[in-house]
Amino acid sequence: MTKAIRLYEHGGPEVFVWEDIDLPAPGRSEVRLKHSAVGLNYIDVYHRTGLYPTGEPPVTIGLEGAGTVQALGDGVDDLEVGMRVAYASPPIGSYAEERNMPADRLVRLPEAIDDQTAAAMMLQGMTVQYLIRRTYRVKAGETVLFHAAAGGVGLIACQWLKALGVQVIGTVGSEEKAELARAHGCAHTINYREEDVVDRVKELTHGVGVPVVYDSIGKETFERSLDCLQPMGMMVSFGNASGPVEDFNLGMLASRGSLYVTRPSLMTYTAKRADLVASANELFEVVQSGAVKIEINQSYPLSETAQAHRDLEDRKTTGSTVLLP
Ligand code: NDP
Repeated sequence: MTKAIRLYEHGGPEVFVWEDIDLPAPGRSEVRLKHSAVGLNYIDVYHRTGLYPTGEPPVTIGLEGAGTVQALGDGVDDLEVGMRVAYASPPIGSYAEERNMPADRLVRLPEAIDDQTAAAMMLQGMTVQYLIRRTYRVKAGETVLFHAAAGGVGLIACQWLKALGVQVIGTVGSEEKAELARAHGCAHTINYREEDVVDRVKELTHGVGVPVVYDSIGKETFERSLDCLQPMGMMVSFGNASGPVEDFNLGMLASRGSLYVTRPSLMTYTAKRADLVASANELFEVVQSGAVKIEINQSYPLSETAQAHRDLEDRKTTGSTVLLP
């Protein structure tokens, strides 16, 4: 038995139930993990509402956590009981005190990175790694547009891009968030509740536009983001905070100058073990060097996950959030 958050139907934060669930012995190639911290991510909202599939309820959602190996299933020979590990990967089920996890999805934590920092950064940090190093490989001297710059992914991106010599134009929903983003390396902020994003981007880039837009807002910003791109620019649409992008007409890319669009997912970019390890190692390096500081601006008891979801959806959170078992 372990304590976990479960949902019996998809819906608002009220569907979460904190209860005892059965936990079998770890199966072949699995380990039993005791979480010391669980990461909260926007994708958890999509799983809770049913926008992304979860399998038949009752289910425990959550994709990220850090903790200690408690027991090994058959066939696991590269981990030991007592090791500190972290992950950001399916299968869902991290909203629990303990869980079983496929051993090949875990990475060992360096001593310098504590469990809460790991739980806060693995998913958002590896996302930034693939977005700026692989989906569109940024170059020093470039100016890029990054939406939701004061969020979990956003604050890591601002710092990492600055360290790579890239100027970030970041969008935010309030003046406090603008200040926070600037304090984390964002060169220019645009409060999209008050200013026209396209006009400001054109002004800041002397009419040229940016070579890449990283857009996790989705429905509300998609088309305007395309307007911020220079010819042959890359639209990286990687989230749906305002709802999914629908009815997309390819002609929109031609009329704006032969644009590219991609809809990437961390799961693809870390599906191979070698890619997962390389991505995690790059993240560990920038955090250990001090180039990127992980800001855990909210923490909640795991039993109060519903409140954490409310605050995330109400846009009250900044930086990263952890749930504590
Ligand atoms: P954030 O901390 O960035 O929270 C979401 C932010 O989006 C809010 O704080 C808010 O900032 C902004 N926002 C804009 N419009 C809305 C809206 N209508 N409703 C709610 N929020 C809105 O979350 P994460 O860092 O966890 O994730 C950021 C995004 O990246 C998410 O969309 C997530 O799905 C996506 N993502 C995608 C991955 C992938 O591989 N494809 C992996 C990881 C994350 P503000 O008030 O400043 O507007």
